Amino acid sequence: MAAEWHEDAVQVGIIGGSGLYDLEALTDVREVRVTTPYGDPSDALVVGSLGGIRVAFLPRHGRRHQIVPTNVPARANIYALKSLGVRQLISVSAVGSLREDFRPGDLVTPDQIVDRTRNRNGTTFFDENLVVHVPFGEPFCGRLRELLGSAARHATDTAVHAAGTYCCMEGPQFSTRAESELYRSWGLDIIGMTAVPEAKLAREAELCYAGLALVTDYDCWRADSEDVSASAVTEVMRRNSAAAKASMATLLASLDPEPKCGCQDALATSVITPLDAVSETTRDRNRLLVGRYFAAQEPKPAA
Ligand SMILES: [Zn+2]
Repeated sequence: MAAEWHEDAVQVGIIGGSGLYDLEALTDVREVRVTTPYGDPSDALVVGSLGGIRVAFLPRHGRRHQIVPTNVPARANIYALKSLGVRQLISVSAVGSLREDFRPGDLVTPDQIVDRTRNRNGTTFFDENLVVHVPFGEPFCGRLRELLGSAARHATDTAVHAAGTYCCMEGPQFSTRAESELYRSWGLDIIGMTAVPEAKLAREAELCYAGLALVTDYDCWRADSEDVSASAVTEVMRRNSAAAKASMATLLASLDPEPKCGCQDALATSVITPLDAVSETTRDRNRLLVGRYFAAQEPKPAA
């Protein structure tokens, strides 16, 4: 647990994906190891300051990229960030493009998700005698998504697409051409392996959550793609990483650390199980996430 943590609360979390394993712009940096009721996060969290805001950075696949998408400990990652005080979370990830006008090197702030994963464990915090149904019609925070998009537009000279539907596949293999064409026929825009269950868990943890998707290639549908050489892909990844870092710095310089947003109360009407039916063990495990709602249900002490 983070009980030994005495510093001012961390306000913003950044989860980095392929091509983004650190944030050199952080100052006053320290490394924090957090354990959670859901196991250990992908790696130690790097806590530092950027734009006057305390930020926790976590490399999703570990800093040496050793964790495949199926095994990313998403519950531990989100729980660990929440335990440090994070209320707003930016998720950076590499994606393939499913449409001609989303080019390698472009940035996308997706607004929708289609979940095509099938082997993920731990897709909810609430799976033991506590039932919670959070709204998920808008899987990303619209407020944070717009701020992130405009920060990216100011900070970089690459194209930033304001919306798009993220197809989350299981992986680790990429799609077949038939699958890629199927997703295109459904009108999906980008494809990656990590938005699920991360986005679902962020909502359950009442975090504002937005994604910065870095387009690296045209998936496999575009047979005549010129960006097939390894060196071209490496160059795109390098530019993407620089664009993501510049976008983060610009965003944090203008971000309100105390967001007033519906995401922050996502559980208010979502907890179905009455308090007296929830075991003490489950209550303890989830106190960080639902404690304030339990407190509201508990009888007031007699005067
Ligand atoms: Zn929000």
